[in-house]
Amino acid sequence: MKSISLNAHAKINLSLDVIRKRQDGYHDVRMIMQSIDLHDEVVVETRDTGIEVECDKPWVPGGKDNIAYKAANLMMERYKIESGVGIKIYKRIPVAAGLAGGSADAAAVIKGMNELFSLNLNEAELMNIGKQVGADVPFCIKGGTMLSEGIGEKLTKIPSFQGVDIVLVKPKVGVSTAWVYNNLKLDKISSRPDTDLLIKAISEKDIGCLAQNMGNVLETVTIEKYEVINDIKNELLRLGALGSMMSGSGPSVFGIFENGKKACLAYESLKDGEWECFMTQTI
Ligand code: ATP
Repeated sequence: MKSISLNAHAKINLSLDVIRKRQDGYHDVRMIMQSIDLHDEVVVETRDTGIEVECDKPWVPGGKDNIAYKAANLMMERYKIESGVGIKIYKRIPVAAGLAGGSADAAAVIKGMNELFSLNLNEAELMNIGKQVGADVPFCIKGGTMLSEGIGEKLTKIPSFQGVDIVLVKPKVGVSTAWVYNNLKLDKISSRPDTDLLIKAISEKDIGCLAQNMGNVLETVTIEKYEVINDIKNELLRLGALGSMMSGSGPSVFGIFENGKKACLAYESLKDGEWECFMTQTI
């Protein structure tokens, strides 16, 4: 039996704009995606037959309902893999949190199976498979700092925003991405992020400019239902964050800090609250 272990990294959005609703029901977006150090561990191993998916957290579905299964199944069919595969997920990324935890696991399975079965697929081929599993999976395969357009699958590399200190807070509610998009009223959006300005700030390593101009149009929907998100944003600012924002469709909120010491002080003050709290960095 051969086995391989991979880190499946979460993402945050440094900006999120929704451009239009398409005829197929999806939305065209323009967003800056950023990988962070917070990760699940995904172990992929050969088995005699079938696909088995297990997670160490009981609230995450195992078997066919796990997105990792869908990724493995697609790889088995596409590349006519005759033996089986076992997948074990050690979950650390909060679930239904706007951090693309499921997509990160699926990306790790695609990369892991490529190595385990010596398929020798290049990154473009892996991303193409990923696209069929979910809109955020290609980004999770690539990682880093990217402008993401289309339904999330059109990726353009922007300069790295690595090593920035982040405090991440996940209130005790789960949010369905589909629910947020279904309740988004595009004609009611009054303020949109200036994505080009943010890309410039990232290129110039101007953390202050980035932090003060970040914007996520989905906040309107999620914050209307969960006021706690606004409370956390304000709390992060009070504790010294240069800027704070909801990630993806929420409910996770992150604060960007000037340095690790300031992030650590904020983390210490938030870590025992009614939420999950992490100190992490952009990678
Ligand atoms: P996104 O921002 O891409 O929508 P998210 O972080 O908001 O992702 P996930 O953590 O990926 O959401 O979970 C969304 C749903 O998918 C959950 O309700 C969960 O039950 C289901 N799910 C299936 N497989 C996984 C997995 N491997 N990890 C987490 N959730 C999973």
